[in-house]
Amino acid sequence: MAPYAADWWNKAEFPAQILPKLAALELSTPVHRGYSHLFAGLVIAEITRVDTSLATFFLVHHDLFVESLHTFGTEDQKQRLLADASELRTTGAFALTEPLHGSDVAGGMETRARRISSSTGEADDDGDTWVLNGAKRWIGNGTFCDYMLVWARDEADGSVRGFIVDATLPGVSRSRIENKIALRTVQNADIVFKDVRVSETDRFGGISSFEDTKELLRRLADHGGLAGGGPAGSRRSTSPGSTRWKGTSSAGHWPTSS
Ligand SMILES: Cc1cc2nc3c(=O)[nH]c(=O)nc-3n(C[C@H](O)[C@H](O)[C@H](O)COP(=O)(O)OP(=O)(O)OC[C@H]3O[C@@H](n4cnc5c(N)ncnc54)[C@H](O)[C@@H]3O)c2cc1C
Repeated sequence: MAPYAADWWNKAEFPAQILPKLAALELSTPVHRGYSHLFAGLVIAEITRVDTSLATFFLVHHDLFVESLHTFGTEDQKQRLLADASELRTTGAFALTEPLHGSDVAGGMETRARRISSSTGEADDDGDTWVLNGAKRWIGNGTFCDYMLVWARDEADGSVRGFIVDATLPGVSRSRIENKIALRTVQNADIVFKDVRVSETDRFGGISSFEDTKELLRRLADHGGLAGGGPAGSRRSTSPGSTRWKGTSSAGHWPTSS
């Protein structure tokens, strides 16, 4: 990636053509291939050293999408989605932030989900379909991903739920956020959901409140590169001569450098 990274950055262009080559390196989802969390962090650190925005693509796809599926997906969802996502044949996004709600999204989430029966189209507590309406903003990989994990408030009881949304479903529209001054290679999207019908089988298993969502994010922060790899790689890129891998952090998870 290194020889091309500046060009991709200047053009604000995500190089989708490299995904098959990256997959062939078998570095995606390293922990699930039997590698350590330390190794997962080092993969992110090395990509970050080349370009933070390419690392962000990896973190969103692997840590926020694939790892979420591993941690909280139903068996059926794992069977259907994990193999392709792990091999980068499909890509994913994590859609939580909204145009008017970032830090305060827990209390302010406006995206709504209504459970209905697909045969009658009427609200039904046991229905087989959910109807999503709302908008998300700043969603990494959102312009080109195949699937997105979308967080929405259940109209029936106000609880926050997750949905695996196929980006090609009718009612999903996405547009690229232009003129970023940082992380230019990773693509961020504004996404609008207008009466998007999602099957009950795509309601994200195991999540029925914002507390569950927070718990998921807490677990992901303990994983792979999210917490340690990025900062370590940035440090290496800014002081390459003085930085070398030394050992692990006091918690034993992350490489430290000197
Ligand atoms: C490059 C990029 C990629 C992103 N990718 C994703 C993604 O893939 N998926 C996704 O869901 N979101 C994504 N986001 C959104 C990101 O998670 C939000 O930007 C973040 O949650 C902060 O929200 P905000 O930008 O609305 O800032 P705000 O919530 O408006 O906060 C602005 C500032 O005010 C401070 N602040 C806010 N509330 C308080 C308070 N009560 N007390 C004191 N200080 C406060 C904050 O710390 C911050 O410094 C991305 C953002 C960027 C820039």
